[in-house]
Amino acid sequence: MLGGGSLVNWSNSVRPRPDVRGWWAQDHGLTGVDGDEFDRHVDAVLQRISANTDCSDFNSPHQRLEEGAGKLGWHLRTAALNVAPDRYDPDIAGFTGYGDQTGAKQGTLKTFLQDAASAGTRILVRTRADRIVVDDGSTTGVEATFSDPATGASAKVTVQARHVVVACGSLETPALLLRSGIGGPAVGKNLHLHPSTVVGGMYAEDQDSWWGPPQAAILDEFADKDEGYGYIIEGIQHSFALLAATARWKDATDHKEVMAKVGRSSWFVGIVQDRGSGTVSVDEAGNAVHTYPLDDELDQRHFHEMLESMIRLHEAAGAEEILLGSPTLDPWRRGEDLDAFIATVMGEPAGFGGTAMFSAHQMSSARMGADPATSVAKPSGELHDTAGVWIGDTSAFPTCSGVNPMVSCMALARRTAGFLSDVLTDPERATADAHVARAPAAVEPHPEERAADRVTEPAGPATLGGAVQSVPGDVGVGVPIGGDDQAPLPDARP
Ligand SMILES: Cc1cc2nc3c(=O)[nH]c(=O)nc-3n(C[C@H](O)[C@H](O)[C@H](O)COP(=O)(O)OP(=O)(O)OC[C@H]3O[C@@H](n4cnc5c(N)ncnc54)[C@H](O)[C@@H]3O)c2cc1C
Repeated sequence: MLGGGSLVNWSNSVRPRPDVRGWWAQDHGLTGVDGDEFDRHVDAVLQRISANTDCSDFNSPHQRLEEGAGKLGWHLRTAALNVAPDRYDPDIAGFTGYGDQTGAKQGTLKTFLQDAASAGTRILVRTRADRIVVDDGSTTGVEATFSDPATGASAKVTVQARHVVVACGSLETPALLLRSGIGGPAVGKNLHLHPSTVVGGMYAEDQDSWWGPPQAAILDEFADKDEGYGYIIEGIQHSFALLAATARWKDATDHKEVMAKVGRSSWFVGIVQDRGSGTVSVDEAGNAVHTYPLDDELDQRHFHEMLESMIRLHEAAGAEEILLGSPTLDPWRRGEDLDAFIATVMGEPAGFGGTAMFSAHQMSSARMGADPATSVAKPSGELHDTAGVWIGDTSAFPTCSGVNPMVSCMALARRTAGFLSDVLTDPERATADAHVARAPAAVEPHPEERAADRVTEPAGPATLGGAVQSVPGDVGVGVPIGGDDQAPLPDARP
């Protein structure tokens, strides 16, 4: 899909966490990521995607989140969104995840891909990268397949390039490297997913959840709970499909009754910053295979504590019923014993057969680092074992981000682009094991979060116990080679 996840995501534009940046610099060798230099990459990204809080309206679910947080004394802050205020329309902003009809959203298609197209980049859509071609330890390009869904015809494409930037997302980047036989022993390891689940509250009044942006706030009270790990709680896009798939299944009548009340429901999503990880491998046909066991004790505990937090938020906000994504669990109804309900929830397994678990944030499966045994790319972003192949997506994260990853991804990719630019403009450095990029151009600190804090003062102690065509070129870029039925970018307008 040309544009990737930023086409359908929920616009939450979050700065990378300082402590996570510290881990990346000190534990993984990404020199400068914890300092001013990287701040400038982050500021430049926030400026280009027009992150601001002017469109961060709190719809009813966010008002419930704010009310619950206020009563419990938990910290909630307004989120910056990459939404252009002059085109923002709250009446249809809630449908953003199905594609933005307003043109307000400043996703990759309207920003960085537009810039690349304007600078003369050729973009091949409906074309899947099959294999990176390597000769004597250096890449010479990419073999790909173009498919026309209208006719079913396909054609092989070869892109000749001295440098290839892989950005297929954390679920597919390792698969491409594995199909190509490159990347070393860490390819596909360390897959982080930010395991997530939703908890719904049924309220007395209609919640009008289609109105306003899907996400406009971050509850970060438990973000740094244990050893830097924890969880955050946010709003979600109202979606019948997601809610129907998540809702308890008892029988058809019961399901219909639950869905008939969905207009009165507000849902929160909880996102665990995972210490444990899963894997990406390939099957015999070269297709990606993903596993994720959630077997880390800290992650399991945080997943359950996060459920408790979301339940307590709904209760504090006045919910009449509280629902979990569990096939067996009856909802809690006001008047019933909340602690007994929470105790039952704590006994449910996370994932299959228990509380529904999903992921919107895939990361770290071709990570950067100083050690070729535990990382795929050098701290510059270029592969340890193959010159000219660079990682430019979330798979490069040394650890999970702990926050919504879009801005971290873009800033890290911008940093990597600085190293690649240096190599392209100074061939003497082509084999250099560069660790420190040319300093990025100075930009003004981006004020997206000015006046954004909504700190709720504690009302009491927290109660928790979270074809063949040959295309020559210097650089082949992974994302534009992918795609489906998007219009060619040069016709797009910012
Ligand atoms: C519902 C939802 C809501 C989200 N909301 C937010 C949010 O509010 N804020 C935030 O920060 N993050 C959010 N995210 C996460 C964020 O969108 C992703 O983390 C981010 O887009 C990942 O970027 P990426 O470049 O790693 O991969 P992607 O954006 O997934 O891009 C990978 C691209 O590569 C293409 N591709 C894959 N394989 C190949 C191949 N073999 N050849 C060629 N092309 C290929 C894919 O089609 C895709 O276009 C959300 C995600 C989801 C699913």
